[in-house]
Amino acid sequence: MSVVVMKFGGTSVEDPAAIERTAGIVAGRAAAGKQPVVVVSAMSKVTDQLLRAADEAARGNREAAIGISGGLRERHKTAAAALLRKKDGEVQQFIEEHFNQLDEILRGLAAILELTPRISDLIVSFGERLSSRIIAEAFVARGLDAAHVDAREVILTDSQYQKATPIDAQIEKRAEEKLRPLVNAGRVPVMGGFIGANEAGITTTLGRGGSDFTGALVGGALNAETIEIWTDVNGIMTTDPRICPDALRVKVISFEEAAELAYFGAKVLHPATILPAVRKNIPVAVLNSRNPSNEGTRIVSLAPHCKSPFKSIAVKKRLSIIDVVASRMLMTHGYLKEIFTIFDKHQCAVDMVSTSEVSVSLTVDSNEKLPLIAADLSELADVKYEGRKALVCLVGEDIRGQNGIAAQVFNAIRHVNVRMISQGASEINMSFMIDEDDAEEAIRSLHATFFNEPDPAIFDVAARK
Ligand code: ADP
Ligand code: ASP
Ligand code: MG
Repeated sequence: MSVVVMKFGGTSVEDPAAIERTAGIVAGRAAAGKQPVVVVSAMSKVTDQLLRAADEAARGNREAAIGISGGLRERHKTAAAALLRKKDGEVQQFIEEHFNQLDEILRGLAAILELTPRISDLIVSFGERLSSRIIAEAFVARGLDAAHVDAREVILTDSQYQKATPIDAQIEKRAEEKLRPLVNAGRVPVMGGFIGANEAGITTTLGRGGSDFTGALVGGALNAETIEIWTDVNGIMTTDPRICPDALRVKVISFEEAAELAYFGAKVLHPATILPAVRKNIPVAVLNSRNPSNEGTRIVSLAPHCKSPFKSIAVKKRLSIIDVVASRMLMTHGYLKEIFTIFDKHQCAVDMVSTSEVSVSLTVDSNEKLPLIAADLSELADVKYEGRKALVCLVGEDIRGQNGIAAQVFNAIRHVNVRMISQGASEINMSFMIDEDDAEEAIRSLHATFFNEPDPAIFDVAARK
């Protein structure tokens, strides 16, 4: 028998109808002789609303915060009632108790008016804690032998709230203790994604979109046969279908390419998802819970050769460019180190760097920290920064060794003002920075250029006809 980790995103569990579909998909795997382990997100938009409630409370708007929580309480109660019909007494009580607790936290927050990362994680954790319990019960009501597991008992992390790092060895140990016996007994564990706990048992989260990461961590820990990421599109597409409705499904892609795409903004996968899968060479499949018979995208260690140079185009918005200008000093020994030390001090990751004789330009995705970083940098040199930038990234292993690709890229966007250009040493991506307002048009133009005659071995060309 083989373990399959199945992660369902927010839209795949957004309401009773979606949860019914999810139960059907899991039952299908079990009937095919697989051993499913299920990881679920909060119901769609719940994380956003919990964050909004926290923000209102921290600004002293107690009634607004409790109002948001009240709406979520109703939504969860109604969903549970529809899914469980008459047998939902215990679950209704669980929901009530959790929202009573949440309201108490929000009231406290409205009194102290300070939202720490630790409290924020505690507040958002309610989304996955509630969804996972309701879904586990809904599975049981549909004949699956599901068992709810609190993710915080499995996903041990460090204490970096809002972006915690998982501790692999501990997760493996706990997965063996908490999940493996259920799987061996033929049961289906159901746990929330995104949330974990530190050594002291305090709730942490893995960062927005982190349920994919949980799925991969659990898959890695249990040496799963496959990790399935169930979402609301047919798989990884040639670009975000919301930007380009004629985007095509990529049938197969390499770990390296998928990691690059995720890092550069393709929301369909959380950037860290690929790591645990790569480490154990576990294939990942991205599938559509609204269209489960579609083959989706397979992410494997070695993808077949593709005639098109690129597999997909990603975009990351809300970035800023910082220009550090200091004539002559720049090339002096240790200067770049000093610049990077400042970014390090503010725990701010740099996406792209380019240097000239007199300036260094860097891009970052943190807007809040910029004034502080700029103040520190201005001790070294003149500093300017500009927000509302977008990084467009074209990814594909088959750009290696092909000539003239850059010319085609920049010809496709010749009307757009390009601020910075980079090609990673991995030689599988080409990226450039432009104004956010130009991003969608640039992507549509690049998509038309590079996916006009797609390779049918790699892309779902049939879907376009
Ligand atoms: P989930 O809630 O299932 O985790 P997400 O909203 O996080 O789903 O990710 C799925 C969304 O990612 C899609 O609806 C799509 O709009 C967006 N997306 C961005 N880039 C891509 C891409 N290259 N391929 C597929 N989807 C993409
Ligand atoms: N619910 C979390 C979020 O919205 C995690 C996830 O869905 O992956 O960010
Ligand atoms: Mg997601």
